[in-house]
Amino acid sequence: MRTSLEHPDPTYTRLVEQYSTFITVPSEKLKFLRTTLGKYPNSPLADRVGWLKQLTFRKAILEELVQVLPADSPKPPEIAVIYWLYRVRYPVFLFSTLASTIVALVLGQWLYQNARQAGIFDLRLQSGQVTPKVIVVPSLVPVITNETTKANPDPVEGFALEDVWMVDKTSDFEQYSNGARILTQHEVETEPRDFFALSRKAPKKKISLPFDTEQANFYPEHKDKPIGILYHVTQSDLLPFEPTYNSRIKGKSSHLIEYVRQEKLYNYVIDRFGQIYSIVRDDHYANHSGNSIWGDDTAIYVRLNHSFIGVAFEGNWSASVKLNPDDINEAQIYSCKLLTQILRNKYKIKNTNCVTHGQVSINPSDYLIGFHLDWAIGFPYASCGLKNNYEELPASITEFGFKYDRGFQKAIGGKLWPGIELAEARLKARAKDSGMSTEELRKKLQKDFTLYLNWINKMRSLSKVNTSKSDEDIDKEKPLKLFGD
Ligand SMILES: [Zn+2]
Repeated sequence: MRTSLEHPDPTYTRLVEQYSTFITVPSEKLKFLRTTLGKYPNSPLADRVGWLKQLTFRKAILEELVQVLPADSPKPPEIAVIYWLYRVRYPVFLFSTLASTIVALVLGQWLYQNARQAGIFDLRLQSGQVTPKVIVVPSLVPVITNETTKANPDPVEGFALEDVWMVDKTSDFEQYSNGARILTQHEVETEPRDFFALSRKAPKKKISLPFDTEQANFYPEHKDKPIGILYHVTQSDLLPFEPTYNSRIKGKSSHLIEYVRQEKLYNYVIDRFGQIYSIVRDDHYANHSGNSIWGDDTAIYVRLNHSFIGVAFEGNWSASVKLNPDDINEAQIYSCKLLTQILRNKYKIKNTNCVTHGQVSINPSDYLIGFHLDWAIGFPYASCGLKNNYEELPASITEFGFKYDRGFQKAIGGKLWPGIELAEARLKARAKDSGMSTEELRKKLQKDFTLYLNWINKMRSLSKVNTSKSDEDIDKEKPLKLFGD
């Protein structure tokens, strides 16, 4: 029996009739025809595309057909596949959903990680607080990262202080990570460092002084570690720096080392070939700087043998000192840089407290600076990895009213270092604030200095008596006779 059914699209009707032949039970077939024709899939897009229309029609028909065909009935291959797919549709759907979810999660995570690495979520970056991380591979362009570079404010310094440590130690030398080799076979001892710093603030353990001062108010504080480095020149006769003089240059250095050793004059000597000799071990005082004053932001130091490490260049300083082979040479300056790094790292020494003998030396009897003049000008601070400490204000002037005279100015080449002029200006301003003349203030400060110095000297001699120390703790360096008058 052929049932004629009316529908807008004859292709659909034809297909429904064609598929209905698989149903053998007449009532089922009729039911299928009615239901399927009533579900005509009306799609404007499918209407325009031939193959899509065929596919849509067949899908709709097969969906109806698989519902009415019994499970065990014989089917043509096309129907069998569809029928099987229809029966497994729920497990397939569940599996597909799970698979899609997993794929979506993995993809999402990957996208998030990449976005985060690119800094898209960095709020600080968006508000402009942080320099963006720029990665260019391969890179000819500098890579900018958020990490701060290693603290090394002065490029001249080369190694950061924490990069300097002792690598090796034998009975003859110590080898350091910055390349320095310190020769130790001539090492001698005096006494461990032991001194009073004049602190600007009252320490917890206050030491009472047997005198009152008028203008200078400091608090003695007991210390036993070096706080600074003092650079000297040995004022030796120099031979020409030439290969033919090799053995004679070495002979002179060896005599010098022996002399320094006997007098316990310096902690270190740098010879003309840049070799570093440890003479008086650096945790002991040396007789390099008798009457002297230096100060930092925490304290003033008077008589620096105990508080400063003495480092001497074999050489002959004058106001016209030049860096050249026959004078102070490059090997010595480089060794000074390495030794300074080692000592600053070992004792945590402030840059400000690495100064020259000429800057700290005083004559306490006439309150004049510059009794010793070695390195009073011309010290190559930058080449030694230090800031220019000629700009520091000498505490001898600012705190104790010391002066310089014409002879001093002439001896250092006529030009004062900047710190002296700044110190004079500060003293003048202080006098004005206190309502007195600069000379009046100077006199009061000088008087105060003598009180402190006498007390320090007394404490020193008491300490010697109590511990039966035999060493001298004086200034054994010969002063220069450069004064013209
Ligand atoms: Zn000196």
